[in-house]
Amino acid sequence: MTAKIIDITLDPDGALTEALQVLRDGFPVAIPTETVYGLAADATNPAAITRIYETKGRPRFNPLICHMADRAMAERYAHFDALSLKLADAFWPGPLTLILPLREGSGIHALATAGLETVGIRVPQGFAGQIIRAFDRPLAAPSANTSGKISPTSARHVADDLGEKLRLILDGGASMVGVESTILRVEGGTILLLRPGGISADEIEAVTGIAVTRPAGPSATIEAPGMLASHYAPGAALRLDATEVAEGEALIRFGGEPQAGTERTAAVFDLSPSGDLAEAAANLFDMLKQADASGAAMIAVGTVPNHGLGEAINDRLARAAAPRD
Ligand code: AMP
Ligand code: MG
Repeated sequence: MTAKIIDITLDPDGALTEALQVLRDGFPVAIPTETVYGLAADATNPAAITRIYETKGRPRFNPLICHMADRAMAERYAHFDALSLKLADAFWPGPLTLILPLREGSGIHALATAGLETVGIRVPQGFAGQIIRAFDRPLAAPSANTSGKISPTSARHVADDLGEKLRLILDGGASMVGVESTILRVEGGTILLLRPGGISADEIEAVTGIAVTRPAGPSATIEAPGMLASHYAPGAALRLDATEVAEGEALIRFGGEPQAGTERTAAVFDLSPSGDLAEAAANLFDMLKQADASGAAMIAVGTVPNHGLGEAINDRLARAAAPRD
């Protein structure tokens, strides 16, 4: 099987019709979202969800985010507290996932939530939202890549990795945000940041007036079993906070920061020469893939500031650099 690729700007009607057909048949479809490309399937259909896990080689204890068309749809599947409602209204549609108590008998299959009594819910922007509205069921969708590898931000990335395993890939161009959603859980008036992502902690604090709490490392792992240390891993090894680069290494830097020895490497990427963290997030996964494809055994990465979207970028870099099993 080789995936059919449909460009949603050239043929939106065809893209929608074919996506709905594949979803109704119980198979996953790769779809563009503003964060990264998702591998979406019917969250109420156990066979369809199983195919997501199999296609990605993803451990089944790692629950999937369920995507909704809007807040009203989300409320059919989960219970919202007042603070979660406020967050939803401020940031949906957008790169924010809320962990909420699942409604009993909601129809979301336990395979999607890995048997938890909570569900991760997000309302994506753009064409993905149209598909969900037309399908009228939540779509479980992790990133459309082999588990543990770098997330895809273009249809080409998806085709290169999973093209032989999929029926349909929708091409919506490069993902605008480029990193996954921010995952939050509200607990007794506090906001736990389970995963930094496309909405920065500053933005959340500005809307709610509440300082976000970052669970210490290991507890984050219990909270969300999928937050595995090693993730987003390229084939090459990665070393962080590099101030110089050795011969044969590839270099990824930020904001034109000078690195000693840059002239010794053929592959130099700047996440954002002007020092814009949003641009850096959008470029991150593609530049990791390009640096990897350069053939270098080691990718040296310069320092990225840790404020705003930098927190999500540094989180992904740390996981890409983490020791692998
Ligand atoms: P990914 O699909 O790779 O972006 O990962 C989704 C993330 O959401 C994983 O880290 C999951 O562990 C997390 N997640 C999904 N559902 C839940 C849930 N009910 N409780 C906690 N974390 C969740
Ligand atoms: Mg992923």
